[in-house]
Amino acid sequence: MDLFEYQAKELFAQYGVPVPQGKVASTAEEARAIAEEFAAAGKPRVVVKAQVKTGGRGKAGGVKVADDAADAEEKAAQILGMDIKGHTVHRVLIEEASDIAEEYYFSFLLDRANRTFLSICSAEGGVEIEEVAATNPDAVAKVAIDPLTGTPDSVATDIVAQGKLPESAAAGAATAITKLWDVFVQRDATLVEVNPMILTGDGRVVALDGKVTLDENADFRHDLESLASAAEGDPLEVRAKEKGLNYVKLDGQVGIIGNGAGLVMSTLDVVAYAGEERGGVKPANFLDIGGGASAEVMANGLEIVLGDPDVHSVFVNVFGGITACDEVANGIVQALEMLEGRGEDVSKPLVVRLDGNNAELGRSILTDRSHPAVRQVDTMDGAAARAAELAAQK
Ligand code: GDP
Ligand code: MN
Repeated sequence: MDLFEYQAKELFAQYGVPVPQGKVASTAEEARAIAEEFAAAGKPRVVVKAQVKTGGRGKAGGVKVADDAADAEEKAAQILGMDIKGHTVHRVLIEEASDIAEEYYFSFLLDRANRTFLSICSAEGGVEIEEVAATNPDAVAKVAIDPLTGTPDSVATDIVAQGKLPESAAAGAATAITKLWDVFVQRDATLVEVNPMILTGDGRVVALDGKVTLDENADFRHDLESLASAAEGDPLEVRAKEKGLNYVKLDGQVGIIGNGAGLVMSTLDVVAYAGEERGGVKPANFLDIGGGASAEVMANGLEIVLGDPDVHSVFVNVFGGITACDEVANGIVQALEMLEGRGEDVSKPLVVRLDGNNAELGRSILTDRSHPAVRQVDTMDGAAARAAELAAQK
């Protein structure tokens, strides 16, 4: 789970990493009021920063320095509602402006390929690190971190030296790094990135930006609910989450329901492939209803997928295992009845492919019920092609 910049900075502050003072606003008037507080404290210059979970906000015009409260209000009005790489800006962070002498890059991340943790440090920060790594790889230090040792001062000092940070920033950066490691470990993060980490005119090292990804598998140890702002997600994803479904919205037209993450992933591929020759239709979502797909889970899944206005057809791809196909078929029948009972529209074409345990029985249950929305295709490729065709026809 990714955090917003303001949430990342709140975490940093809790662990003693220096960050600029700031507050979040969701209207231009609130932005002005916050800027007025800063002005009253002798800091009239503020930065207005779009809070979206994507990088490159600066380039997109989502980070603007304002000279006074009226200017902050104006800039907040410009930034709020802006679309940055498909993310609508609902909130801005109003921060005291920083006096930037230099910008560096620092991050801790999980290095899956090498089965370890990695720190990345560079004196060339503020810009995209991938770009620096491509054009000037010597400027980017990558130092593996032994999880048992972590980053005591000696390790942090070494990272800073390898990143070629200047002497004037070395001590401050090393101290910040030891604290960022505490954030990384104690919060079960898979990424803690500070870009830029700055040296101020008066010689302090400050985290000017923050990106933190937390490991949802460690949910039980933390209160991630309070950090996950439901209002920010895609509305269908929010509803799916409430129903305990493993759903990700995509931008195509073929709704997908399957059992098992691997099967659903390959279903997305097969549909995308079939769609290429059929008007370029694509999968509309990922939805794994899991192993024991009860009628209720199937109904919830169908409700979410059919409720997506972008969906033209639905592909239900089930491989019967522990939950046999006849149970799934009954689940589909009951789910359709349940939805019709709730007054939901179930007229979008449903292509069902049942295979595996008790496939024959499952197929005959659907044939007997002969619901007008349902058509069966026995193979995965055939069903994908049919679903793509139906979506393209609409
Ligand atoms: P990103 O573009 O999404 O990574 O957003 P950042 O928070 O990294 O901001 C982008 C750039 O805006 C930074 O690299 C700085 O150059 C600039 N910036 C951010 N905050 C301030 C500030 O307080 N003062 C000044 N002068 N520039 C800032
Ligand atoms: Mn940044």
